[in-house]
Amino acid sequence: MLRCGPAEMDRLVAAGLPHEDRSGVRHFDPNDLYNLGMYSNTSTTQPELAFRMLFRFATRPVDDLLRERTWEFQARLECVDCAGEAPWRLEEPDIVRFGGSVTDVTAPAPASGSATYTATVTTTGARTPVLSAELRRLTGEYLAAGYRWHMIPVPMQVDYALVHELGVTSCIAASLLLAARFRDAGYRAEARRGWFCGVVGGALDLPHACVEVEDDDGRLRTIDIAKALLAARLSASTDDFQELCLGSIYNKVIPSTAAGGAPLGYHECGSRTPVHVRADIRSVR
Ligand SMILES: [Zn+2]
Repeated sequence: MLRCGPAEMDRLVAAGLPHEDRSGVRHFDPNDLYNLGMYSNTSTTQPELAFRMLFRFATRPVDDLLRERTWEFQARLECVDCAGEAPWRLEEPDIVRFGGSVTDVTAPAPASGSATYTATVTTTGARTPVLSAELRRLTGEYLAAGYRWHMIPVPMQVDYALVHELGVTSCIAASLLLAARFRDAGYRAEARRGWFCGVVGGALDLPHACVEVEDDDGRLRTIDIAKALLAARLSASTDDFQELCLGSIYNKVIPSTAAGGAPLGYHECGSRTPVHVRADIRSVR
């Protein structure tokens, strides 16, 4: 992941990279390694290469993000501490209100351990920039605050105040904080989770979230705050995409019915360990 040899790993450990020794083998937290690589400025680490590839689209003309696209959507639900056969519930793709559709749904039957949900999802885009000057001011203020985007475990992201106190942010934490600021300013707003499409082979399980807010004209707008922040960091030539993130809809995002801080899937077996949901979303055309 870091393209480091043993000598470089020794130096990183000596400099404070957290690890655990288990029977003489060093174990690292994948989030730590990811963030270290992402901000290493070596241009060779796996996170830097993955993000550059992932955000290549953001430098292209945005018209391609506004057309209709169809995806084979698959979500694998895993109940790691399963207590037996029971029904599953997935916070499903919620795209119809944004002009898309969900067809050929195969919802999982009651089972134990793991299950799969599949559907064909069509997304589209629309230029619907945020109108409210106040919403734009609050969004601009957040983007200018200099929070560093980090890969953070979802349960920690939910504690968005703690995350921001550390000077960092993430998709879910950013959306929860911005939604709270919008509400403080008198707007109806909430963070919502979803999926970011086109993540090659599911190599990067990037939790996606954005803010849904009722604008001055009474219409719902989405603000993809983390993608705007990441695009600005990754390339200077992403102004059009960054503007698209502020109210418009684009075809690489599938919103779900899950609230910002909530899980994407449940298993009613009684286990207290959260269900792990991993999506694999492939472009059809
Ligand atoms: Zn279970």
